[in-house]
Amino acid sequence: MIEFKNVYKKYENNENTAISDLNLQINDGDFFVLVGPSGSGKTTTLKMINRLIKQTSGEILIDGQNIENLNLQEMRLKMGYVLQNIALFPNMTIEENITIQPESLKWSREKRHKSAMDLLDKVGIPQEYAKRFPRELSGGEQQRVGIIRALASNPKIVLMDEPFSALDPISRNQLQELVLKLHQEMKTTFIFVTHDMNEALRLGNTIAIMRMGHLEQIGTRDEIIHNPKNSF
Ligand code: ADP
Ligand code: ADP
Repeated sequence: MIEFKNVYKKYENNENTAISDLNLQINDGDFFVLVGPSGSGKTTTLKMINRLIKQTSGEILIDGQNIENLNLQEMRLKMGYVLQNIALFPNMTIEENITIQPESLKWSREKRHKSAMDLLDKVGIPQEYAKRFPRELSGGEQQRVGIIRALASNPKIVLMDEPFSALDPISRNQLQELVLKLHQEMKTTFIFVTHDMNEALRLGNTIAIMRMGHLEQIGTRDEIIHNPKNSF
């Protein structure tokens, strides 16, 4: 379980408070979506979970432990991160991109290769694409690889920041279906950021609506649909 307790974040070069008194609980295995307009604090919240940025005050706990007390490298290994701009390494093949995870680097060649092939199968990319370079794949295919790379170390938590917003509608639709399938299979906690309410309602079991650094509403998909408090 991930908990935010009275979390504030103020960037030094910005007089506005990015996050104000955020209290949140994210249960294990949830598909948790943070949705809200641009600038509402979604990315800031996500980045605080894996300590890419540090809160100004308040506490963030994972399984009851303050994240500041956790070993950063170990903690990050348990978290996959998928970015909007896919960010595959352009000079590495697809297989090399997938197996770059520090954990899998300790594995034998065979084990790494098998893991890469299994993951490609899982997301419907032909195994022969393993030898290709990222530029030889479509945008949708590259983002599938971005997702598998995040899953390669078998993380407990997968963080996704607008992963599909650069894709065309058809690829976006296919990738939404894919993450729903992966979530069902893996029973991992997925935390997904989007500015698109339709995407949030399609994917999320729990939906947190953010506005101007505050939590405007939080609830299950049904609660949000049947009791919409938000103006968003
Ligand atoms: P969202 O992900 O919802 O678009 P962000 O978390 O990126 O929102 O931003 C929340 C607020 O924090 C915005 O007002 C934004 O301008 C500000 N902000 C984000 N990153 C920085 C930064 N590195 N320096 C200063 N201000 C920032
Ligand atoms: P999209 O419409 O999703 O952008 P593309 O037209 O880029 O798709 O690609 C269509 C198919 O062609 C994909 O299966 C992709 O892997 C393949 N492809 C695209 N560019 C190359 C390339 N330079 N070399 C080999 N295959 C490619």
